[in-house]
Amino acid sequence: MDGNSDELANLGGVWLIEPLYRQSIFTPEQFTEEQLAFAQTAADFATGKVLPRVAEIEGKKPGVLKELLSAAGELGLLMLDVPEAYGGLGTDKTTSMLVTEQMVCVPSWAVTMGAHVGIGSLPIVFFGNEEQKKKYLPKLATGELLAAYALTEAGSGSDALAAKTTAVEDGDHYVLNGVKQWITNAGFADVFTVFAKVGGEKFTGFIVEKSDQGVSIGPEEHKMGIRGSSTCELILDNVRIPKDRLLGRVGKGHKIAFGILNIGRLKLGVGSVGGSKHALKLAVDYAKERKQFNKPICEFGLIRHKLGRICCGIYATESMGYRATGMIDAFVAAGGRATAVGQDHESRVQQALEEYAIECAILKVFGTEQLDFTIDEALQIFGGYGYTEHFPIERLARDARINRIFEGTNEVNRLLIPATLLKRAVMGRLKLLDFVSQVKEELRNPDLIPLHVDGSTVGRERRAAELAKRITCYVADIAIQKHMAELEERQDILGALSDMLIDVYLMDSVVARTAQNVPSFGRDKTELQREMCTLLVADAYDRVVQGARRLAASITEEDELQVIFANIERLNVVRPVNQFRALERIAVAVLEAGGYPVLG
Ligand SMILES: Cc1cc2nc3c(=O)[nH]c(=O)nc-3n(C[C@H](O)[C@H](O)[C@H](O)COP(=O)(O)OP(=O)(O)OC[C@H]3O[C@@H](n4cnc5c(N)ncnc54)[C@H](O)[C@@H]3O)c2cc1C
Repeated sequence: MDGNSDELANLGGVWLIEPLYRQSIFTPEQFTEEQLAFAQTAADFATGKVLPRVAEIEGKKPGVLKELLSAAGELGLLMLDVPEAYGGLGTDKTTSMLVTEQMVCVPSWAVTMGAHVGIGSLPIVFFGNEEQKKKYLPKLATGELLAAYALTEAGSGSDALAAKTTAVEDGDHYVLNGVKQWITNAGFADVFTVFAKVGGEKFTGFIVEKSDQGVSIGPEEHKMGIRGSSTCELILDNVRIPKDRLLGRVGKGHKIAFGILNIGRLKLGVGSVGGSKHALKLAVDYAKERKQFNKPICEFGLIRHKLGRICCGIYATESMGYRATGMIDAFVAAGGRATAVGQDHESRVQQALEEYAIECAILKVFGTEQLDFTIDEALQIFGGYGYTEHFPIERLARDARINRIFEGTNEVNRLLIPATLLKRAVMGRLKLLDFVSQVKEELRNPDLIPLHVDGSTVGRERRAAELAKRITCYVADIAIQKHMAELEERQDILGALSDMLIDVYLMDSVVARTAQNVPSFGRDKTELQREMCTLLVADAYDRVVQGARRLAASITEEDELQVIFANIERLNVVRPVNQFRALERIAVAVLEAGGYPVLG
């Protein structure tokens, strides 16, 4: 292991092969008072200052976003990720995610602020040199300067390294030429992280200022959603910038571009929790109010099931998301990798984000798809009214759609999840092959399969999670054996594995959180969490088994398939649960609470 503390046994991806409970996980129940105080400040700001101005924001009234950014800066909400040495607060990632979560009631605003504090400012936080940090960070931390991140071009979206923007050395300067597309905050940003190729091939990061000669901004895009946010082209026409604006090293721009995307992905995933909670609250209020057939519609079973399922989705995303932020914070606090000893805090954060790149990608995919599910079901609860502009759910449905597209599309992130895991297995960083050998031994000797249900509150769910790990790794190994050489090109296989891996992380996180909470808070207070855990694990387990069968049937011949199916069946001892009763109980809790009923 390349860590220097016990904490680091909890490395990225190990949940796939380690038994549950080997490590405790961070959960929302462990938020500190300080973290909750930040969240409250952010929530008050979002509901008190941003929400009342939603019409102005969506109508693109000039100056409103800048005004709100400035007000957020005064409250210290823009300085969380900036180190103290440069005028920031340098808080942990859990705090910064909690603040992000509160902002999503107005997604145009959340994207604006997120782009400034995240992809806009973080390249300088992580990769800037001392002079650059001193020059820009104190002003970015207060909102005096506003930031944007310019990677995408017309011909290079997902394939970002195919960018055509050039940087040519000219004495003490670089001269940049090119057009960056769909740049969030471009309409008013002062500072841009721009990626360009030096000598036509060395992909490199630069800091460009709006005031640099040759910089111009295209007109605002007309978008489906997040209409209030600014999205424009950044046009670079013979822009001469001094060489001290080089960010990082020549040819190392990919490290900046992809390193920053990890945190963007995590933020989108955790931010989805806030969006889902907001939509659930709107749906509950409406369902209580709206009467059909002489009853409030919240009394209808199918509506109650929707509320129950939305609530479960939030519990899952929250458990997966804050587990990830907790791992990142623990990794940083423990000093990062052994090779990082003596390195500064930002280098350790950067390493942590790389270490948990798999979890960041999982959060991006699961969180954003969960948000779409939530909002679609919430809109359905509003019926025809939900389809009109008179109710905010219409706007939220348009706004949510972008989340599956930016910060790496969900397809690209789906591919990253198994690809990164397999790479780590090949490098020996993740003992996947040892675990596969163990599973094969268990299949040869079924007495070894962990079928025993322990006496703990979520013993059955724990068993399901352990078996799901085995099923996933068993079919992953078959795929590797058969298609190793071309696996990178077999998106069908990678996609199927990815969905199974997401479900394993879900099960592991939800069971671990619930199991940890029961002894701390007592059975009564955790009844709801146990219901959700049961339901979520039952669904995820079914998906894993079905996914394994489908994958096996797609990559093996008929004669082998019988053996594989028999082996999957040996590991498939989990029986369906009473979902109707669980959903009803969860719906009751949601209706009583007027929204998401679990307190962090
Ligand atoms: C509102 C908005 C704001 C944005 N803000 C910013 C910003 O601030 N800064 C910035 O740099 N960019 C920004 N972007 C750009 C955004 O990151 C890109 O749109 C995104 O990366 C996808 O690129 P693309 O649109 O060119 O789609 P493409 O890459 O052309 O993808 C089209 C489809 O093909 C799929 N696809 C592509 N490659 C693969 C593959 N290898 N395997 C399987 N499927 C694949 C995609 O998943 C997608 O479904 C923004 C975009 C929008 C719409």
